[in-house]
Amino acid sequence: MNVRRLIPTAAVAGAVALGLTTLSACSSSDAAEGGSDGKLNVVASFYPMQFLAEEIGGSHVSVTTLTKPGTEPHDLELSPRQTGGLSDADYILFLKGVQPAVDDAVEQAGVKNTVDAAKLTTLENHGSEVGHDHGHEEEGEEHGHEGEHGHEGEEEAGLDPHIWLDPVKYAEVAEGVGKSLEKADPDHAADYRKNTDALVTELNALDTAYETGLKNTSTKTFITTHSAFGYLAERYGLTQEGIAGIDPEAEPSPARIDEIHSVAEESKATTVFFETLASDKTAKTLAKDLGLKTGVLDPLEGITDKSAGADYIEVMKSNLTALQKALGAK
Ligand SMILES: [Zn+2]
Repeated sequence: MNVRRLIPTAAVAGAVALGLTTLSACSSSDAAEGGSDGKLNVVASFYPMQFLAEEIGGSHVSVTTLTKPGTEPHDLELSPRQTGGLSDADYILFLKGVQPAVDDAVEQAGVKNTVDAAKLTTLENHGSEVGHDHGHEEEGEEHGHEGEHGHEGEEEAGLDPHIWLDPVKYAEVAEGVGKSLEKADPDHAADYRKNTDALVTELNALDTAYETGLKNTSTKTFITTHSAFGYLAERYGLTQEGIAGIDPEAEPSPARIDEIHSVAEESKATTVFFETLASDKTAKTLAKDLGLKTGVLDPLEGITDKSAGADYIEVMKSNLTALQKALGAK
């Protein structure tokens, strides 16, 4: 179909006069959609969402990310321009529970094609060390009855959002993102389907590499500053001991430090992991006190020049290597 045939001659002449020559550069019916380049204007909240949008959207999408590379995403604040620009998006991909500021702004933007990745898989509660209430372990139980009646906000507060670090859950999210893009932009459904399949195949291969790579190890316990690896640990039979909590900048309590000391001794853990986007002071002090090594385990909340790989798949592979080394893989 030639889209120009549907446009009155006067309008075409006007568009050309205004320099909107992209109309003629577009090959098919997609000229009517999205921005002036005919691409679907996608806004992603932070790197793991960006990667999905780019891989699955391919050449049919133009992706903007709210979290700049190198910024710690959890306490991101949006500029008025970012908040205002959200309502111009054709499609928003975010993960509720990671960035409160984004959750609010997305809700207010009211964009029809808004996809919450948390709804495309199942979230779990990984205990008090991933919650916001360190040292208040009883709190959740006391208020448990409220959750039963569907006070969604309170229930979600205890749920761990770091699903992208489990290749299996991430693949589930990828499937859902693919379907939602097919719906948002049906003209390119076949390509979205194809790209989704290719990505899921890669994620399955990554899952197999983790499964076999972590099968036989001297210890199953790893210590990390940022408790981002709960789903990964569960998937591959490991135990994550988080020094602080979900907020990588939080200072651990002296009691938690004591606990980590005994855990490290009992589990024969060798390494204290820290991440690239947050301070490594706590990890280094603790490792020194315990006579352990330090290493980098990247929660993939952003990609920078310092990341141990150019994209999600590469960094996940280097995380696997780091885990194998720390756990004594045979
Ligand atoms: Zn995190």
